[in-house]
Amino acid sequence: MIERLTIFGATGDLTGRYLLPGLAALRAAGYLSDEFQLIAASREDWTDEQYREHAAEWLERSASNVPASARRDVVTATRYHKLDLADPASVAACIGRAEPVAVYLALPPSVFHAAINAVRQARLPTGSRLVLEKPFGENLRDAIELNHQLAEFLDEGEIFRVDHFVAMTTVQTLLGTRLANRIFESLWNSSHIAEIEIVWEESLALEGRAGYYDGVGALKDMLQNHLLQILCLVAMEPPLSVSERDLRDRKVDVLRSVRLMESAGDPATRRARYTAGRIDGHDIPSYVDEEGVDPARATETFAEVRLELDNWRWSGTAFRLRSAKALAADRKEVVIHFRPVPHLPIDTPQDPPPNLLRFGLEPEDLTLELTGAGPHARFSLVPLILRARHEPAELPPYGRLLLDVLTGETALSIRGDEAEESWRVLSPVLDAWAKGAVPLAEYPAGSSGPVQAPRHS
Ligand code: NDP
Repeated sequence: MIERLTIFGATGDLTGRYLLPGLAALRAAGYLSDEFQLIAASREDWTDEQYREHAAEWLERSASNVPASARRDVVTATRYHKLDLADPASVAACIGRAEPVAVYLALPPSVFHAAINAVRQARLPTGSRLVLEKPFGENLRDAIELNHQLAEFLDEGEIFRVDHFVAMTTVQTLLGTRLANRIFESLWNSSHIAEIEIVWEESLALEGRAGYYDGVGALKDMLQNHLLQILCLVAMEPPLSVSERDLRDRKVDVLRSVRLMESAGDPATRRARYTAGRIDGHDIPSYVDEEGVDPARATETFAEVRLELDNWRWSGTAFRLRSAKALAADRKEVVIHFRPVPHLPIDTPQDPPPNLLRFGLEPEDLTLELTGAGPHARFSLVPLILRARHEPAELPPYGRLLLDVLTGETALSIRGDEAEESWRVLSPVLDAWAKGAVPLAEYPAGSSGPVQAPRHS
């Protein structure tokens, strides 16, 4: 296990909200030894003490469920270095020369190329690893270039392209539910499943993050990585093992078979951005009036794509991926819509609703919606809902990912070809949107999205 982690971009939101809490959870669970060192690096001219205060504040806010002693241990194990990516000496000082190190690029995607170059020039000690956050590149060409750049000095097993959705308990449950239960896998195909929705809709608006979000938008922020990763796990063929090669080969098979699903009356893609409105009693300004937003970029805060898989198992099933900001309510789940039964007794008083299997992403839970018979004299149909909640996970998703990085386990990290295939899936969408072929619709903040948004309850 590597005992040193360097974070580039350590003053950013990701580090405070997820990486420091992930490390504190690892320490609390006994995975980090007293030898562990964190080198926090960013552009601020701070002392160790200043950064430690900053880290302690974040930990109090974002990791209040972790014992205070573990939070304190992480703070104590931290040193701060000022980072200038254009200065090889500064980068080398952050990386150190002695033992292997994991270097985590918690940086905006626009500086990934410069950061990788800087790390390469600084020469990583043998056995080191490099971690890259999503989105991996800004488009397919950029992802290919990044992969070339990385392959010049690292083996694939030393590169971690992380996507924390894959480490969520629900997403792991999805795999377990599919692969370890006789009752589901035999139904897991287009003969029995009409549609699969993968949805991340939130009531949060921009929340001051224009600097990052306005250059990215919902499609690149959520669909291109998190939601496509879930699609892979929902739709892949059962792998021989859950080790890195088998799991990632099966995921790549899925990505290679994905096509946009064009059909009359239901567009393959939709995009929109929010206008002024109210959410939970608070006024929300129009997206274009938020500080730091450039309206000319036409950044979408709502993105939806309808996909089909060109393979035996899934031909005829629709996969709908959708993400949106500033809606009336949160809805974050994967929903499996089973087809209706082929026949009912002719005197059944009403049609049953189709069965639904829901994997809640936030909150994380599992629900199966069935139909049963009511307690009446005549046969009547009533809903039956089975709900399972998880035991609290030992580690949050970023704790699990950081443990994988430190121990060298790559099964949950995105392989280079997988990252490229994910961009290939959405390249036609990006091209069509850039040409204005799909109108940028509007929806009021606090609504249920642009009109005609297909709703499934
Ligand atoms: P922030 O903008 O909050 O932080 C970025 C960090 O990078 C800051 O410390 C910033 O320093 C530093 N930085 C920016 N440019 C440079 C540069 N040229 N040289 C050195 N340091 C630089 O972004 P986030 O923390 O939110 O995101 C970081 C990455 O994590 C992104 O790739 C994002 O997509 C990904 N991510 C973020 C999530 C989140 O919830 N925040 C969730 C999942 C992924 P300074 O403060 O000086 O600008």
